Amino acid sequence: PVERLPEIQEARLRLPVLAEEQIIMEAVKDHECVVLCGETGSGKTTQVPQFLYEAGFASSGGIIGVTEPRRVAAISMSHRVATEMNLSSGVVSYQIRYEGNVTENTKIKVMTDGVLLKEIQRDFLLQKYSVIIIDEAHERSVYTDILIGLLSRIVPLRNKKGLPMKLIIMSATLRVEDFTENKRLFSSPPPVIKVEARQFAVTVHFNKRTPMDDYTGETFRKICKIHRMLPPGGILVFLTGQAEVHSVCRRLRKAFPYKPNREHTDMMETEEDLKKSKRAKKKNVSLPRINLDNYSALPVDEGDEDRQAGIDEDDGEGSDLELELGDHPDTDHEEKADPSIPLYVLPLYSLLAPEQQAKVFRPPPAGSRLCVVATNVAETSLTIPGIKYVVDCGRVKKRFYDRVTGVSSFKVTWISQASANQRAGRAGRTEPGHCYRLYSSAVFGDFSLFSEAEITRRPVEDLVLQMKDLNIEKVVNFPFPTPPSSEALIAAEELLISLGALEKPARHGRLSEMEKARLSCPISPLGRAMAAFPVAPRYAKMLALGRQQGCMQYIITIVSAMTVREIFEDYDRPAGSEEENVKMSGKKARSVQMRRLWAGQGASLLLGDLMVLLGAVGACEFAGLTPQFCEENGLRFKAMLEIRRLRGQLTNAVNAVCADADVYVDNKMAPPTEAQVLCLRQIVLAGLGDHIARRVQAEELLDPKWRNAYKTPLLDDPVFIHPSSALHKTLPEFVVYQEIMETTKMYMRGVCAVQDD
Ligand code: ADP
Ligand code: MG
Repeated sequence: PVERLPEIQEARLRLPVLAEEQIIMEAVKDHECVVLCGETGSGKTTQVPQFLYEAGFASSGGIIGVTEPRRVAAISMSHRVATEMNLSSGVVSYQIRYEGNVTENTKIKVMTDGVLLKEIQRDFLLQKYSVIIIDEAHERSVYTDILIGLLSRIVPLRNKKGLPMKLIIMSATLRVEDFTENKRLFSSPPPVIKVEARQFAVTVHFNKRTPMDDYTGETFRKICKIHRMLPPGGILVFLTGQAEVHSVCRRLRKAFPYKPNREHTDMMETEEDLKKSKRAKKKNVSLPRINLDNYSALPVDEGDEDRQAGIDEDDGEGSDLELELGDHPDTDHEEKADPSIPLYVLPLYSLLAPEQQAKVFRPPPAGSRLCVVATNVAETSLTIPGIKYVVDCGRVKKRFYDRVTGVSSFKVTWISQASANQRAGRAGRTEPGHCYRLYSSAVFGDFSLFSEAEITRRPVEDLVLQMKDLNIEKVVNFPFPTPPSSEALIAAEELLISLGALEKPARHGRLSEMEKARLSCPISPLGRAMAAFPVAPRYAKMLALGRQQGCMQYIITIVSAMTVREIFEDYDRPAGSEEENVKMSGKKARSVQMRRLWAGQGASLLLGDLMVLLGAVGACEFAGLTPQFCEENGLRFKAMLEIRRLRGQLTNAVNAVCADADVYVDNKMAPPTEAQVLCLRQIVLAGLGDHIARRVQAEELLDPKWRNAYKTPLLDDPVFIHPSSALHKTLPEFVVYQEIMETTKMYMRGVCAVQDD
């Protein structure tokens, strides 16, 4: 029996999903699969696992599995469910890519969808689980889609074998036809249960005009007006990325200072703010904003909205918009700090540390108004209590891939109408609310109705390899809720063949039309080994080759660093004051100097940016991986911690795949020898072989735009080595690169020389 605290029980009873407990549990009893739709905040995520627990789904040895597309949600939901049930984290646990607190006694396990996919590789029947809940299915994340496809087969198989299992798909929107009306997925449509949320009316206010550039300025001004003029109630703000969130937080804290004690604000910002307020008259000065960190390192993962992509907000002043909250346009608020009406400002985004994230759930200090400035994470996965006003910039930051060339770029685009309505809905959880849309109703009318499923928007080689490893040879026949394009499937199959992960078809050369149509090359033994590594196929190939000349620990380190994003601190952010600018440029100079040092000398220079990564991790671990070392040397502490975890995980994976590999994580790793550097370059080339670029020869220089440019097989346009790259001055004839990111130009990132000049 579950013994809940009285106040918890009382709060639960107010959740709409509780009224449906019986209906839900009866549907689960009668069907293999049930779809549950209910507004965000209706209690699906926190309550349904408890219903199942109380109905005995964890009492005969089975585990209740819950998947979330985001790490933030997996962690916070497991904590919340444990608290509500009065159970320890050893019983209600979580597992994300690198960490978790699962024990032998775990009964409810909340994990990211990628974690469950890996578990299916180990045990196709998922025998540990008595029920799987796929949460946030409306987000249509790639892994969620794949899991639903797989589970549509696994659940009937389990039931046929007399090992009953249930599947519950939960969605915050009613748009579930891709699951329910897809005959390949479920031959008889699963029942859909709708939870009627107690949603209060939300009045939507459109802007008369739509700011195209300075929407963060507009956001800031709108928040100021709400705070000054409207009755109490929390404000939730939607912006597109971490940099914007911080910039608006900083401006708000300056305008409405609130500092009872330091615990409530982020230390660094508090100090910055104190200095800044001394020279409050100074106008903002921006530094040029081009930086290697403006690209991402991670090929495919969640949390893209947090990555900087050279599309940082314009902090400029001045907009002649008509504001709806009465009075005339006014851009001067931030100059006059007004401590009489404190605003309790909190940022919220995926990369934020969990302790910081947890603050949004606590009531704001007495007498202050809560203002959460968030990225898309607050749209559906987290419900913040007490929100009465929503400010929606109408945009989201997304990563776009070119289907043919694989070139990726981050773009801020308009959201869908469905997203806009989700965002507005956040204002009506506890009482009637207001949503301020910083765009006109005409612009809203042009939004697409729904966002596209992620699987149709990105390369799929990692998924194809994982499916082949599950012996799904004909990937085209897989019951995708929405299938990826056939070009994407063909590109994936071809890449995997070229990496040796799939058996080559009998003929040589590119795939014939017929072979393309079948896409049925079986996995090779090398492919099996690669599939065991939790990284994208190109990196898995490098790990599979890493045993030569004692290179394994280096290659593990390089791969770990390449797949963790933003390892270098970004000093190109616009700073507030001149003083700050000076401090930032000092830090930047130090960071440039350190990168040069890590790039090494002689032979190792040719390993280029990858040597910088190796050197940085080596130096940081040698120094004991302290926040201080990272701060002093321009490294992001959180990224370095993630690299450490990933090194551990990859080291275990390598030892598991290859019993005599005998590799361990060495914190006093010596730099690679000259012979090893050569070997590392060969290994990197084997993984990134299709990412080769050749320097444009002098005689081919028809056009000045080709100066210092490189040519790649697939692109007509020139690509470049970024000024912050270790090989920017060397300009080797042939290079391989980790990826191409388009910002002001097409820049290669993670560059390594192929041939000695
Ligand atoms: P849904 O999954 O339907 O969106 P949830 O189960 O996530 O709904 O949330 C139900 C309620 O629980 C919400 O009102 C939310 O504010 C509250 N809640 C969720 N997590 C926490 C937490 N960590 N602390 C306090 N309240 C929380
Ligand atoms: Mg939820």
